[in-house]
Amino acid sequence: MRLKHSLGPALPLGSLIPGSCIGILGSGQLGQMMAQAAQKLGYCVCIFDRTPDGPAAGVANEMITGSFDDYEALRRFARKVDVITLEFENIPITALRELSLLKPVYPKPEVIHICQDRILEKEFLRSHGFPLAPFEVITSKKDLEKALCSLNAPCILKTATLGYDGKGQIPLQPGDDCAAAWDSLKTTRAVLEKKISFVTEASIITARSLQGEVLSFPMQENYHRNGILDITITSPSCSRKAAETVGKAIAESLGVVGLITVELFLLGDGTFLINELAPRPHNSGHHTLESSQTSQFEQAIRAVAGLPLGSTELLSEAVMVNLLGDLWQRGEPHWEPLLTDPHLHLHLYGKKEAKPGRKMGHFTLLGHDREELLSTAKRVFDKL
Ligand code: ADP
Ligand code: MG
Repeated sequence: MRLKHSLGPALPLGSLIPGSCIGILGSGQLGQMMAQAAQKLGYCVCIFDRTPDGPAAGVANEMITGSFDDYEALRRFARKVDVITLEFENIPITALRELSLLKPVYPKPEVIHICQDRILEKEFLRSHGFPLAPFEVITSKKDLEKALCSLNAPCILKTATLGYDGKGQIPLQPGDDCAAAWDSLKTTRAVLEKKISFVTEASIITARSLQGEVLSFPMQENYHRNGILDITITSPSCSRKAAETVGKAIAESLGVVGLITVELFLLGDGTFLINELAPRPHNSGHHTLESSQTSQFEQAIRAVAGLPLGSTELLSEAVMVNLLGDLWQRGEPHWEPLLTDPHLHLHLYGKKEAKPGRKMGHFTLLGHDREELLSTAKRVFDKL
């Protein structure tokens, strides 16, 4: 590794100095790791969420509990902080606009509005010429019947809003009962998307700072189980450069301040399609805590605090494995394999109740050889 040090110019005007307070909306594990990164840089952290006991609450300097339509609580939160960012995008846009009257909210409410709605997001990407799977907007049973007929292929029906970890999705084949599918989705807005035969899934996380500096982390490959991310591994794919270009172009066309994650389907011919966007740190970027010069969490904080971005140079290949609540179904997992390997980094988020599908923690293994990393990760996981 060759390090290029540069002291750079003075801190940009308006950047937050240590001691300032970062406000984070949401108290899950992403908020927890963002808070820890902010504190490492000398910032205080105030968290806002509906419940007082999320993983981020345990590490925050301060926590304000309230619903996202409790404007009095939202204003109390805004008055305490210097800048506001978020760990999940499903926040009512009215709350974000109210907050932005008092303090800067990054990414801006308009960006979150696009990313929290699959229809707006896909239309934004299509209108800017980014490559997408064929899709149709669905607002009725009739729309669904017509679209399934015209796409004439295995498809996935997805709710426009509030879906995550594969929830709010129904696979459909041509000729399937559209009425039953539409009724069971219990929504009025959705998209029908052609099912893609991808080689692998991947993601690219890009930061754009308050000053407009844009920097991507190297792409990683993602493997899902039951719609939930299972394993992420740093990627040697030749699509890496092209994906970076797309990540930067999306960050710029959206005008993001903070992070934007682009989920991709890598195809057999070396090209890719964009699956979806997330305007925040992403589960697939957890390995950057150990594998990268700067973690995705620190980068998110740097971007919204107006600091220069940190280097995204990869220091090591890495594999990350999610630890879901399912593991606890047979009793307490065997911790030993996770605590005895000197190249293994365990992160438990401190969630009190383990439910199937709930993300309780993850571990990251560092190494040089991807095959070896994957086989070691699988061996460790099987022993838990
Ligand atoms: P979520 O918001 O739940 O992450 P996604 O749209 O990313 O929703 O879907 C979750 C997972 O389902 C994806 O990571 C992928 O494995 C699978 N999936 C989604 N859309 C498609 C598609 N069009 N073709 C093939 N697989 C898909
Ligand atoms: Mg997804």
